[in-house]
Formats: sequence, structure tokens, C-alpha cells
Amino acid sequence: MTFELPVVTENATSGSCGSAASGADFVPTQRLPQWLRRDLPKGNFNNFTAGLLEELKLETVCDNAKCPNRMECYSQKTATFMILGNVCTRPCGFCAVSRGKPEALELDEPDRVAEAAYRLGLKHVVITSVTRDDLPDGGAEHFYETVLAVRAKTQATIEVLTPDFIKNKAGLDRVVEAAPEVFNHNMETVPRLYRRVRGPKSDYNWTLELLKRVQELNPSIKTKSGLMLGLSETRDELLQCLADLRTFGCDFLTLGQYLQPGQRYLPVVRYVPPEEFEELGEIALKMGFEKVASGPFVRSSYHAREMTQ
Ligand code: SF4
Repeated sequence: MTFELPVVTENATSGSCGSAASGADFVPTQRLPQWLRRDLPKGNFNNFTAGLLEELKLETVCDNAKCPNRMECYSQKTATFMILGNVCTRPCGFCAVSRGKPEALELDEPDRVAEAAYRLGLKHVVITSVTRDDLPDGGAEHFYETVLAVRAKTQATIEVLTPDFIKNKAGLDRVVEAAPEVFNHNMETVPRLYRRVRGPKSDYNWTLELLKRVQELNPSIKTKSGLMLGLSETRDELLQCLADLRTFGCDFLTLGQYLQPGQRYLPVVRYVPPEEFEELGEIALKMGFEKVASGPFVRSSYHAREMTQ
């Protein structure tokens, strides 16, 4: 190991950040490193994708979370569907999705997601959601219905990226019953930062247990998790977290740079250089992860299909 992540106290983060999610949402308190500047994406389906989503009244995490890859993914007719509304019941410090009191469920949403997946010609469909602590099943049945609707309408492989169902293990089991090819639940960060980043209801150990439970219930499902780097995690903390994920049987891993989506969100403490992402990816493979995507722009659903091939 030739370098160490700096150990940064939580107080030391204020004012040291800067960055952005997508161009219009930059928080420009610090010059963005060269490797986070991007050319306009190739491909000309941006309007097609955006128009279809609007026509079918669908939400995407790409838009709601101000993902920096939105232009690229939409241009290639890819998007990650966000079901169960666009208002989340958790106060995560990193996420730009609106929070508050969600609307009622739209019962035809599963069919609309399936229709969009079909018309976009998706070979791999990623379905995520806001966290719905207000619903008795946490939204599990809606996930289940959406997976089945997409499977009935397309030949696509299906990946779910779920909330933690922390008070609702039966809900988790119901989503597993739908048998998506990939079950993704993000670790997001190391345990020391967990509650600050993921909110007071989050639980590091449960995240690990969740991944293990999915594998125990259906060993044919690939489990996947991801972390954002640059939130002040140390290298040792990060490597321990990856080791924990392996211990609990996680198959696929994503590592990407955290980008502050607006002034009121957690600041970026450090921009991790691309070569460090590469090195961490190699370490993760040696630890036994089957597939790893590690890079500044990697998000849990970025080029997600490639992990399944
Ligand atoms: S990386 Fe994922 S969330 Fe971001 S734009 Fe692409 S599909 Fe959407």
C-alpha cells in the first residue's frame, strides 16, 4: 500500500468540499478535479428517454438523485426506475431525493415500468425506490409486482436496488420471492459514518445481514452492494467494510465518488483519484468479489448490465 486516505474528523469537513451532481446542481466551493469534468455524452436518445418517462409518468433515480451520469445513460436509452413515489421517509445526508410525507401508491406503476422497459429495449432493468417506512410492508409487494410485470413484458434480466426493510423482514423475503437476477442493497459508507450518512434508522450490521438473508433464501440471486468514497472514510475502515461484505457473501461491488448534490447535503471531504479507484477495485477482486466496478463516476446502477454478463 503506497498511500493512505487522510483521517478527517467530522468537524474538519465543513467548508472543505465542493462538487456537484449534474451541471446545474454544482456546489462550486472547490475546483472540481480534471477527472470529474466530462465531455457531452455520445448518443442521441436523451430526449427519447426523457419523453418516454414523462409520457408514462415514471420517476427515475437518475433525475431525483441528480445523478451525474444522467445525460450519458439517457442518451443510451438507459435509466433506473424509481418506484413507490418520489418522496422518501428517510433523511439521508447524501441523497437529493425529496423527503417528507409520500403520496398514495399508484397501482398501475408496475405495468408502466414494464412498458417503459419494453419500449426502451432494455436488456437489464434496474428498479429502485424511495424508502417507505410509512407502508406496512415497506413497499415490498409493489417491488414484487414490478419485477413480475417487467418479466412478463420483456426478456430483460432484473436488478432490484432496495431500501433496508429494517423493520420488515417479511417484506424483504417477499422481494426475494420475485427472484430478480441481482439483489442490490447499498452499504453506502463505513460504519463510523453510518448514521450521519444514512440517517438514524440505519444499521450497518443489518445491511450485512440483509445481503446474507437474500443469498440464504435464494442462492441463485447475485447480491450486490456499493459505497460512496470521499466522505472521510479511512482506508482501513473501507477495507474492513469490504471484508465484511465478503464475509456476508456479497458477490458484486461498486465503488464511486460521492458528489454533494446541493448546499444542504454532506460535503465532499476528498476527491479520490481514478488510479486509487483502480487499485481499490483490484484489491476487491482479490478479496473475492466476483465483479467490481470502481471509478469516480461509478454508481450502483451505472453500466449495471455489464456485471451480469
Ligand atoms: S448511473 Fe444509474 S442512476 Fe445514474 S443516470 Fe445512469 S442509470 Fe441513472
